[in-house]
Amino acid sequence: MKKKVIIIGGGMAGLSAGCYLRMNGYDTDIFEMQDVPGGVCTSWQHGEYTVDFCLHWLVGSGSANSFYDRWSELIDMERIRFVDHEEYARVEDEQGRFIRLFTNVDKLEDELLQKAPEDEAEIRRFTRAIRQLASLDLPSEKAEELTNLWDRMKTAWKMLPYLGLFGKYMRLSNKEYAQRFKNPLLRKAITNLFEPEMTLVFSMMTLAWMHTKSAGYPIGGSMRFALKVAHRYQRLGGRIHFHSRVDKILVEDGQAVGIQLADGSQHFADYVISAADGHSTIFKMLEGKYSNPELLKAFESRPTFPALVFVAIGVGRTFEGEPHSLLFPLCAPVQVDSQTAVNDLYLRIHNFDPSLAPKGKTLLTVMIETYNYQFWQTLYEESPEQYRAEKERIAETVIHALEHRLGNIQAHVEMTDVATPATFIHYTNNWKGSFEGWLITPENGMQQLPHQLDGLDNFYLCGHWVAVGGGLPTVLLSGRDVAQLICHKDGQPFIVTPPAGVEEHEKSQLIY
Ligand SMILES: Cc1cc2nc3c(=O)[nH]c(=O)nc-3n(C[C@H](O)[C@H](O)[C@H](O)COP(=O)(O)OP(=O)(O)OC[C@H]3O[C@@H](n4cnc5c(N)ncnc54)[C@H](O)[C@@H]3O)c2cc1C
Repeated sequence: MKKKVIIIGGGMAGLSAGCYLRMNGYDTDIFEMQDVPGGVCTSWQHGEYTVDFCLHWLVGSGSANSFYDRWSELIDMERIRFVDHEEYARVEDEQGRFIRLFTNVDKLEDELLQKAPEDEAEIRRFTRAIRQLASLDLPSEKAEELTNLWDRMKTAWKMLPYLGLFGKYMRLSNKEYAQRFKNPLLRKAITNLFEPEMTLVFSMMTLAWMHTKSAGYPIGGSMRFALKVAHRYQRLGGRIHFHSRVDKILVEDGQAVGIQLADGSQHFADYVISAADGHSTIFKMLEGKYSNPELLKAFESRPTFPALVFVAIGVGRTFEGEPHSLLFPLCAPVQVDSQTAVNDLYLRIHNFDPSLAPKGKTLLTVMIETYNYQFWQTLYEESPEQYRAEKERIAETVIHALEHRLGNIQAHVEMTDVATPATFIHYTNNWKGSFEGWLITPENGMQQLPHQLDGLDNFYLCGHWVAVGGGLPTVLLSGRDVAQLICHKDGQPFIVTPPAGVEEHEKSQLIY
């Protein structure tokens, strides 16, 4: 008889777990509290514009990286058009000087040497490391828990050429490493390669993936991409229940046996997987009764990715000659909330994806980071008027800054849309409004957290609260790992069935 699995959360991790379990004959039900799949990998319609929230790049978009093989197990990658940007980002200073962070490492080196010749020695070390990392392919076929001595020896052998590099750069954050450069603009560019506190190696790896054209952006944006995986799940025969918020995980004799929804209904299964927010899974759905030391320590002390104030603006004009990704200084610092002030804005000009705006118009988005999610949450719950006013203030401030930097904005604004950490928590339940789970820091590294909890059988965790560093390929893998662990527990081989012969109209159907 087919065994039944309940999956909490229809984000990319839950969908991935669902697909692989269906490939292996399990009967699966995903319970998702929203009315769409994808979790934070989302876009939404606002008038004529599609506001794209998530995807900047997808590791595995090109076949130089073996994540391409993992994605190809789920969806037909050849049918997706990826854009490999020429520039990763452009970073500007107050005097209008700029550095173009090219994705091609040779061009990047030329640009950095030209803009900061005084830093030649360190620039050459930096680009040499990126070149070296371009051939690194992280293992992704087997769940770590199932690897044997031979597998570990093979991985160690594969990693051997990179150990020196990891030793040198893993223990440095972007911010710390930036101090090695004399040129102030280059220091700013290196600090902001990704989160300033993140380990430098991860930023170098990202640039290496871009150099090999295996971290491109999928035309159509985040929701269209998420729907491809959701459609695959449904074609494999998986069920997804929307508007189904899970309140409780049911446990009997140390085994997870089912879930209870907010409407009080109970559903039973042989296995329960939570692909939802890690904190509420452990401290609410399981009432803090089950955990493991690594996870508890993480929730006590590990830094998370920040929350976001996200501003989308639809503008009735185009932006020829402007970069798609730009960090530029504000005329004066902007107070975002009671604890957060910013000196620069990170802008995306989505002129590379014509599907997001009508012809002749452009979607602009600005991501402002804050760790003060409580400020927004309290306003949202207790002072709706003031909350709305704060959102308007932020939108006006951003438009004003864009007018100053790009010119000719104000008169063409057709749409504004502001999401705050409160919006994010409301829609996705992510702890502290973090947009990607745990940061990969020099102190904590990239080691994944356990998929299981002490004393609780038949229960697994996946998603960006165990897949450290988050990101779509990482959470795909964590869903896949959990499916492998379940197959292993049942003593059956783990089978992967890539998609075949899917009609285009079927791919674009809505799934609910
Ligand atoms: C702005 C932004 C930019 C990003 N850029 C990139 C990028 O360029 N490249 C990249 O690879 N990654 C990027 N990421 C990260 C990546 O999108 C995430 O790490 C990944 O999508 C997380 O997937 P998940 O399934 O683990 O979690 P989530 O997406 O949070 O999914 C969890 C799901 O569980 C549901 N849920 C929560 N609680 C319950 C409950 N009680 N009952 C039922 N359902 C529940 C939620 O509604 C949600 O659908 C970005 C993320 C953001 C927000």
